[in-house]
Amino acid sequence: MTHDPIGKCIYCDSISDLTDEHIFAYGLGGDDVLPKASCKSCAKVTGSIEQHVLRGLWWLARAVLDFPSRHPKDMPTEFKIRGETKDGIRTEIILTEDERFGIASFPDYAPPGTLISRPYSPGILMTGNRMIAFGKSFEEIGKKYNLASITGSVTYKGTTFARMLAKIALGVAVARFGLDNFEEIYIRDCILNKKDDVGMWVGCDNWTAPPELLERETKTRHASIIGVDDGVVKVRIRLFSFSPYSPAYLVVVGRLRPGTSMERKGKAADAFSGMNK
Ligand SMILES: [Zn+2]
Repeated sequence: MTHDPIGKCIYCDSISDLTDEHIFAYGLGGDDVLPKASCKSCAKVTGSIEQHVLRGLWWLARAVLDFPSRHPKDMPTEFKIRGETKDGIRTEIILTEDERFGIASFPDYAPPGTLISRPYSPGILMTGNRMIAFGKSFEEIGKKYNLASITGSVTYKGTTFARMLAKIALGVAVARFGLDNFEEIYIRDCILNKKDDVGMWVGCDNWTAPPELLERETKTRHASIIGVDDGVVKVRIRLFSFSPYSPAYLVVVGRLRPGTSMERKGKAADAFSGMNK
């Protein structure tokens, strides 16, 4: 869906050199576009955030899921796994085309600091790591190659993943309310890496999607829900929402000007539903 043009950079308010902004990265199959919504210099910053996730953490999973790529020739074609056989022998196996599977990692975070009145601390607190496998099931691969386990490593580059969530949430919120209706946007500085405070605004909580919402989200690649609490805009994001295992993240985006209409207008009308509290 292409939203109405913004005419201003949503990250820094610049009005020159504006480019179109994919709310969810193109490489994640995102087709929600905010026209004229990012200046070139901010696009460079958000682009490098996305690269970490698209080419690092989720590269194999994207290939298995046939997500789009701006550089299709660079996509991985060889799927190698390392593991240990049931006889305790370390081994490396190159999978065939129809055995491909990819694992996507999702960090679990503490709740956004601001929601639990936690005093400022730098960075973001990671409380766990969730792995979701896509493609062929590990059970089948394991059986065929007599594997007891597979091994691998995940590298999270600092707060980059959390900043990507903030970036997505800002796009979602601006698509719904416009940029000028925000009195303050809390997450701009962490997206642009000017302030190391992403943990104050981004995190996880114990919310789980009700079954009817999950059912709807299985039909989309990614899901977002927007909620307003006393003028404060919060966005819930589930990436790879077609998987029931994918975690929900919560981003506290900013505060609306008093009197901002909650009515859904124009193209954003059907995109979001109210947030369950
Ligand atoms: Zn900018």
